[in-house]
Amino acid sequence: MNAKTYVDNFMNELVTKNPGEPEFHQAVREVVESVADYIVESPQLMKLKVMERIVEPERVIMFRVPWVNDAGEVVINKGYRVQMNSAIGPYKGGVRFHASVNLSILKFLAFEQTFKNSLTTLPMGGGKGGSNFDPKGKSDMEVMRFCQSFITELYRHIGPDTDVPAGDIGVGGREVAYMFGQYKRLSNEFTGTFTGKGISFGGSLMRPEATGYGACYFGEAMLATRGDSYKGKKVCISGSGNVAQFAAKKATELGATVMTMSDSNGYIYDPDGISPEKLDYIFKLKNVLRGRIKEYAVKYPTAKYVANARPWGEKCDIAMPCATQNELNGAEADMLLKNGCKCVVEGANMPTTPDAIAKFQAAKILYSPGKASNAGGVATSGLEMSQNSMRLGWSAEEVDQRLRGIMSNIHAACVKYGTEPDGYINYVKGANISGFMKVADAMLAQGIV
Ligand code: NDP
Repeated sequence: MNAKTYVDNFMNELVTKNPGEPEFHQAVREVVESVADYIVESPQLMKLKVMERIVEPERVIMFRVPWVNDAGEVVINKGYRVQMNSAIGPYKGGVRFHASVNLSILKFLAFEQTFKNSLTTLPMGGGKGGSNFDPKGKSDMEVMRFCQSFITELYRHIGPDTDVPAGDIGVGGREVAYMFGQYKRLSNEFTGTFTGKGISFGGSLMRPEATGYGACYFGEAMLATRGDSYKGKKVCISGSGNVAQFAAKKATELGATVMTMSDSNGYIYDPDGISPEKLDYIFKLKNVLRGRIKEYAVKYPTAKYVANARPWGEKCDIAMPCATQNELNGAEADMLLKNGCKCVVEGANMPTTPDAIAKFQAAKILYSPGKASNAGGVATSGLEMSQNSMRLGWSAEEVDQRLRGIMSNIHAACVKYGTEPDGYINYVKGANISGFMKVADAMLAQGIV
């Protein structure tokens, strides 16, 4: 069978078996297209149906999350944990609280996570969870009651050697702390079952910074392949949450000027650039005041706020989508290319649509998929797990140095498996093949499980 027929047959069967899950189909197609050549040449992978097994979660837990709001009303949310693959380590992946959360989104994220975790070289399997609960506009006590109810069911399915959740959209230090508190209370054990914990109770220094910093380290490595760097570049960033904030901070430290940030209501563009002082204001606005990005343009009137729009029409050298999936489409890719963008580094998971990826690759600009360039977050979660197991904590410098090393190794793996005959580095292919090979090897060794 040739690779194209394999992909067509595989995807037809996947879509039939998993109807109504477009994000999951999209994530699987990207990986299957990358590894098809490799699979059709391996009788073992074909016969033992490794890819067919990888796309089927080992376990999906779905549950009711009832809680009481400040008005005394009963609210019922949906809770999920997708335990995708444990071939190379305990399930590991974040928890997302957002109104849009559904099984398709969590399956795509858990699937991506499996290969991303493999790329880090650390022993972590893939998982992801969440709820359609939206923390925005809720009081601290409402968020706490929700987190406690969520964990009252989930606690029996997780553990330091079973499944180790962390943060994602809508889940930051506050939410992880509430979930950890309830987990500890129910399990009667103080273990490293969550990562992204507070420093006073087992968290790792540099974990909050890791995803955004790691994305910039990866971007630096990409640019270096063309003798270039962040220095003097204009960067457009989407999002203003955890990943976006630290991507902006590191890009600025590396000598770039950040022009934009956004949230789900719109974006701000600062013609003078977002200086370190202005970025401090964004950190406070989002993390302490829990405000909206449009308030930036009120505080700094030379900046503009554009409602209901994304920042990709603004001129930049480097684009860093750091908000959510499918937030950069083909038309926006055309605008970026027309404006001279040379490099797209994904901080979010699957933010670029397949047609936009095709345009970047056809134009031969640097483009990295999130599973490679945002892997610094989970890698540092892996380092938090190691510190918890050893019952000690490393300095920020030590964690940062390890993070840099891991990002550099992931970049090298992408170059090794993704370099095309004309020298163009296809980071999608490189990341998918490298991530897949280790998981497939472990699955082959462990038999039909
Ligand atoms: P946060 O919740 O801290 O921030 C998310 C940001 O994206 C907010 O500005 C939010 O705006 C915006 N956003 C969320 N949903 C949408 C939407 N549907 N349309 C437009 N904007 C949206 O999340 P993180 O920064 O942690 O995560 C961002 C991305 O990075 C996600 O794709 C996540 O999976 C990925 N990621 C995160 C890691 C981590 O360590 N945190 C690790 C690896 C990947 P608003 O406030 O309006 O909701």
